[in-house]
Amino acid sequence: MNKSSVQAVQGLPHLVTDLPGPNAAALIARDQAVLSPSYTRSYPLVAERGEGALIYDVDGNRFLDCNAGIAVVATGHCHPRVVEAIKAQAEKLIHMSGTDFYYENMVLLAEKLAALSPGGAPRRVYFGNSGTEAIEAAIKLARYYTGRDKFIAFLGGFHGRTMGSLSLTGSKSVQRARFGPLVPGVTHIPYANCYRCAYGKQPETCNVECVRVIEEQLFKTILPAREVAGIVVEPVQGEGGYVNPPQKFFDELAEVARRHEILMIFDEVQSGMGRTGKMWAAEHYSMSPDIFAAAKGIASGLPLSATIARADIMQWKPGAHASTFGGNPVAVAASFATIELLEQELLDNAARIGTHLRARMADWPKRFPAVGRISGIGLMIGIEIVRDQETRERAQDWRNQIERMCFERGVLVLGAGENTIRLSPPLVMTEDQADFLADTLEACLAQLPRHQR
Ligand code: PLP
Repeated sequence: MNKSSVQAVQGLPHLVTDLPGPNAAALIARDQAVLSPSYTRSYPLVAERGEGALIYDVDGNRFLDCNAGIAVVATGHCHPRVVEAIKAQAEKLIHMSGTDFYYENMVLLAEKLAALSPGGAPRRVYFGNSGTEAIEAAIKLARYYTGRDKFIAFLGGFHGRTMGSLSLTGSKSVQRARFGPLVPGVTHIPYANCYRCAYGKQPETCNVECVRVIEEQLFKTILPAREVAGIVVEPVQGEGGYVNPPQKFFDELAEVARRHEILMIFDEVQSGMGRTGKMWAAEHYSMSPDIFAAAKGIASGLPLSATIARADIMQWKPGAHASTFGGNPVAVAASFATIELLEQELLDNAARIGTHLRARMADWPKRFPAVGRISGIGLMIGIEIVRDQETRERAQDWRNQIERMCFERGVLVLGAGENTIRLSPPLVMTEDQADFLADTLEACLAQLPRHQR
């Protein structure tokens, strides 16, 4: 066996026990007694260590991680350069509170993110620790700057679970149930989910009704335009099922925003940091949002988020908003290493492996009756599972079965939306690993009852 094929075999799953193995089962029992039951676990994976796109569990089983800790470990698990950056920074300065003092790497990262922002306008950066905090900051900043208090958000959108961001979230009712009243003033409208157009249109007859509703109905009835601070939108809907709208959706939305002096706020928490093969998904649409939020992939697993706004918008007074831990030096160091890797090789790799996977999947709707739409951009790929391609009836149970079958073959995939399998692997994924993932999904799809009919 030559070296590269040795590496390839080493980079693939290898199971040595039934699942869950004995150590995993014991830990899960303890977890169930003491952890919040609000966490959603799809299958019994107990991770012990990770390397690149691989995860080893507590029984020595090796899995191919096709979700990167929910689109977080952009550079793969424990990339040596990220680990080295974390160690070096931890020996120098772990925390100082950037809200009260200065330190250099926080300034350098803000400069870097500002320079990388789409559109070229001068930017300022606010650092937090999580996606939801980045969105909270965006909500507060938009209110502060515009003096308006209303927002437009989208059905299927996910923006976080704290009270402000939850008010924008329109993904699953379980996320909102029993938590009201939420922050008032948010109106949700249908997203440009063309495969399931809320207005019953086909792409040929589409007149971007999902945007027109804003001026033609909302502004004339329940929502005075001059009270709207921002339109909050994911450039690719994540939790909603990896839905990527057509260009004209964003063109029209930006026009509506411009006409009424409403801020365009992009939630790039999941789609940003190279996930789509470009640094920001907004770049695929040539959009330059007024404010955008980044988190997940930004520091390869350390808690960090950024709310990045046009410099003339982020002009709030000292004390208006802050966070003790946001932008802590160790997370910032991990972020630098992450961005360097993205720029050097991983943006290209994400685009290349994304294209490769999509080519592998191109004929799936023909070969597998349960495959509806293949969606997403780059390494953000959704596979919609349907009972019937004609009616597009959602087959959540089959989607869940596929998740489980993949797990039993050593491949970690997760669902998004009601009936979509989402793939958001580490951006270091190799072609051999991508092929293994595609082979595994094909084997699972072939097992579905509809296929065997
Ligand atoms: N926005 C988007 C698009 C997300 O996908 C998520 C998390 O999945 C969030 C916001 C919230 O991020 P966090 O879980 O870090 O608060």
